[in-house]
Amino acid sequence: MSTIKDSETQQQSMKRNLYHLIINGEQVASSNNATFKTFNPATGELIAEVAQATKEDTEKAIQAARHAFDYGKWKKSPINKRSRVLNKIASIMRARFNELVELEILDTGKSLSTAQGQVMQAIEDFEFYAGAIVGHRGVVNNVPGQFHNYTEKEPVGVCAQIIPWNYPLMMAAWKIAPAIAVGCSVVVKPASLTPLTAIILGEICLEAGVPEGVVNIVPGPGAEVGNYLVGHKQVDKVAFTGSTPIGKNIMERASQTLKRVTLELGGKSPNIVFADADIDAAVDGSLYGIFYNSGQSCEARSRLYVQEEVYEEFVGKFVEKTKKLQLGNPFDQGTHVGAIIDQNQLNVIDSYVKSAIADGAEILVGGKVAVVEGYENGFWYEPTVIANVNHEMKVVQEEIFGPVVVIMPFKDEKEAVKLANDSEFGLGSALWSKDAARTTRVANQIQAGIVMVNCPFSAFPGTPFGGYKQSGFGRELCIETLDLYTETKSIVSYYGSRPLNPLGV
Ligand code: NAP
Ligand code: MG
Repeated sequence: MSTIKDSETQQQSMKRNLYHLIINGEQVASSNNATFKTFNPATGELIAEVAQATKEDTEKAIQAARHAFDYGKWKKSPINKRSRVLNKIASIMRARFNELVELEILDTGKSLSTAQGQVMQAIEDFEFYAGAIVGHRGVVNNVPGQFHNYTEKEPVGVCAQIIPWNYPLMMAAWKIAPAIAVGCSVVVKPASLTPLTAIILGEICLEAGVPEGVVNIVPGPGAEVGNYLVGHKQVDKVAFTGSTPIGKNIMERASQTLKRVTLELGGKSPNIVFADADIDAAVDGSLYGIFYNSGQSCEARSRLYVQEEVYEEFVGKFVEKTKKLQLGNPFDQGTHVGAIIDQNQLNVIDSYVKSAIADGAEILVGGKVAVVEGYENGFWYEPTVIANVNHEMKVVQEEIFGPVVVIMPFKDEKEAVKLANDSEFGLGSALWSKDAARTTRVANQIQAGIVMVNCPFSAFPGTPFGGYKQSGFGRELCIETLDLYTETKSIVSYYGSRPLNPLGV
């Protein structure tokens, strides 16, 4: 069994006892020396202490970002220069890949292959935007006669970027890379449960040559640090990934200063298996769709609809494979499902499953807190499949954010679309069928930002990621994201030979 700890390429460790804030290009303690602890969810063990930003620190970070944006050279630097620095960030991350993976696993309890994929994607995001920025430009528009009109894309300014705990490094990359590519300055607030890799990414940005004040990292409680950022007059934009209730609260508060807002929120994504699908491929893709990242995924395909004719066959195979999923040492290549982020989340998951049982649903496999040998002090939940549900149940309508899927039969295409769209969310969706006309027809009717067709993956650098309905708005990971970190300025000029006298006076 190969583990990351075998790696010979490991350099000076990112692991420390204490991690600092990054403000104005420096690693600093908090203004009152306060720290908070971060734990390994797989074992319950303390990993490190982290400086906890105060309001004063957050204010300093905003002022550093403001100064860098208003007077610094980053936004004025040639695009090729910014592109080079983004590539440098990626190359430092590549050189320290194993350390980043190890730190991400320790802080989140996720499995090795899951962490490796996410760290690699974070790296590729910087490479993607290093290229994308070169082609991001304004346009020339058709205007009458002697006039000329062109547009410029100007960075929006100081951006507050608030990150969730499920993909700590990848979400930080999704936010920092496009923002600094266009010349913005950022103040990043990592999730309190998983602050470590975002702090390291901030340090790597400095090492790669991002000037002081352009990237600031301020871990601390959302209700204090996040709230302060959202309310601040000198912050121009908030980019938030997290839960729908906090997203709504942020949008309301950001409206007071008319900040630009993008929100990547919760989901309850449908996964539809038609009778004409390759059933084995659909089983494997659907397993990944829900149990990847222990189900702690905004686009987790947590509502599984299977056409009546193949329902029994599919459910039999799906349950059998669910039983084979390995929980255990996250550093083992053979572990499929990692830990749950903390005791609170474990309680949330368990209470949803209990509510389903109370509502009369049937647990086909799993259904309780898992006891994992050697990891008794960690937080684990059995991969769980629930059948015999109706569409009003909490377990069908609400996001659980854990390894729990509800499975139900449907009659025909029309019913599948109706059930899929019967949700307040609209982030991901998946279709399994060999009939391309059918998948095209259904894809066109699904109310979701992402439709995966015979495919379990939704997020490559370049693919737009974001939601419809209460899953938020704005798209990350793509070219369009650059527009969301810029304003369009329209420049209209007159080149006529005679002076204009529009009022005729
Ligand atoms: P959360 O509780 O909403 O927290 C997200 C972030 O917001 C954290 O950094 C949190 O800080 C901060 N925060 C909390 N209260 C705040 C406030 N009043 N003002 C400003 N910031 C505040 O969500 P989570 O539990 O970390 O993440 C899980 C959720 O994220 C799920 O609902 C999931 O669907 C969603 N998600 C969506 C996507 C997507 O792309 N659509 C991707 C990943 C996750 P603290 O950590 O200090 O509480
Ligand atoms: Mg942690």
